[in-house]
Amino acid sequence: MNKFMNYDRKTLPISNNKDNGISPRYTILVIDMLNDFIYGRLKSKRARNVIPRIKHLLNFARRKNIPIFYCNDEHLLSDPEIKLWGAHAMKGTKGADVIEEIKPTNKDYRIPKRGYSAFDEMKLENALKSTYNGKGPTSIIMTGIHTHLCIKHSTYDAFRRGYDTIIAEDGVNAFTKKNHIFGLEYMKDNYGAKIKKTSQIIKDINEQSNL
Ligand SMILES: [Zn+2]
Repeated sequence: MNKFMNYDRKTLPISNNKDNGISPRYTILVIDMLNDFIYGRLKSKRARNVIPRIKHLLNFARRKNIPIFYCNDEHLLSDPEIKLWGAHAMKGTKGADVIEEIKPTNKDYRIPKRGYSAFDEMKLENALKSTYNGKGPTSIIMTGIHTHLCIKHSTYDAFRRGYDTIIAEDGVNAFTKKNHIFGLEYMKDNYGAKIKKTSQIIKDINEQSNL
């Protein structure tokens, strides 16, 4: 037994399979909020700024029974990205663990990835489709890092699959302000992503909730 067995579990969280009565059907992705990206080899101060906003949004989402997916780098040395960025978030290391502040609960989904997009393999797609009594989500809220890399590539793949996308403006960030703004504008212009502050996302969901 080891912690990575979680990733391949066949049984999905029961509470996340129910329809929570909110329309549209939301899910949240938390991308690469890992020790190496926040405090380790690829650390950046800007990445740290999003932690309280993501935490707040996730606490709200758990109360509303909105499914949460942690999509995390779990690299092997042979991954093409390693040549560009150096070794980071290597599978089985502490650097690849989600930061203490926003650890997943056992109701959350954990999706490993070895490239920029959370959709690189079929794991996320299959897990998404299992939510909401098999109807899947209609809208995906993006949080994590980096705006112009993994967030951008994951949002493109969500767009290609027909999902509406919302970027939590203060729940994503990048190495530089320029990288961050570039990513937001690119996703807005080319993928039709909605850019919203976490407070606005929460307000909108509250208004749309039938609970
Ligand atoms: Zn990586």
